[in-house]
Amino acid sequence: MSLTAILVDGLTVRFGSFRAIDDLSLAIDYGEVRAVIGPNGAGKTTLLDVISGITRPKQGRVLFDGGLDLTQASESAIARAGLRRKFQKPSVFEGLSVRRHIAIGADVGFRSRLDAPALEDRVSEVLETVGLTDQADRLAGELSHGQKQWLEIGMVLASDPKVLMLDEPVAGLTDEETERTAHLVRALVRPDRAIVVVEHDMDFVERIADRVTVLHEGRTLFEGSMDRVRADAAVVDVYLGR
Ligand code: ADP
Repeated sequence: MSLTAILVDGLTVRFGSFRAIDDLSLAIDYGEVRAVIGPNGAGKTTLLDVISGITRPKQGRVLFDGGLDLTQASESAIARAGLRRKFQKPSVFEGLSVRRHIAIGADVGFRSRLDAPALEDRVSEVLETVGLTDQADRLAGELSHGQKQWLEIGMVLASDPKVLMLDEPVAGLTDEETERTAHLVRALVRPDRAIVVVEHDMDFVERIADRVTVLHEGRTLFEGSMDRVRADAAVVDVYLGR
């Protein structure tokens, strides 16, 4: 295993003549929570789309674990390699139980198939981690918005991901739900896992992120701890001060 989970090297993504990502290079290590922040249109979603194989870049490489080039791999190969993403909008199956969702996440994503008892253990463990044990037999459609977010995090977690991407995990959550989500994200940190979070809530980012990458116009404007990000004049100018 390489120390670097994701290595972005000279990445450029064009939509027509517009560069959504412009010669971007960065490294995300195992064991860290990396927040990617920046104004609307900075390229955050496009970066996650490239890492998850949805968008093909014009130039550059994105290496996973020093090997697999994600710009050449299919979406399913990327998921099989252990890179999983929770999208911004909850998209649960309203008529299926919470427990069944987690089982589907484990069954679809797990790199080696689990037998029935192992699957049951895995589902219980994930329900506990995301705080939904007492909701296990409810239908997903009956959950609050916050609980749906945790359920979706549980679904991707069930596959034991190497890289976990979270797209605006606290958008629309109450302060209390945001606090619980911060706890949850920190509980997912492991030496052999990288967690990448795109988020606009800076207090949340400060709670969870080991390092923050500030994107602006498809490039890195600043990278460092949230303290240093808050103190950087250019970041305040293009993003935080607005
Ligand atoms: P962010 O997530 O930081 O708000 P995005 O990655 O969504 O930014 O978008 C970066 C820029 O690329 C934006 O200006 C957006 O309008 C443009 N863009 C994103 N996807 C497409 C697309 N499919 N076609 C054309 N332009 C796009």
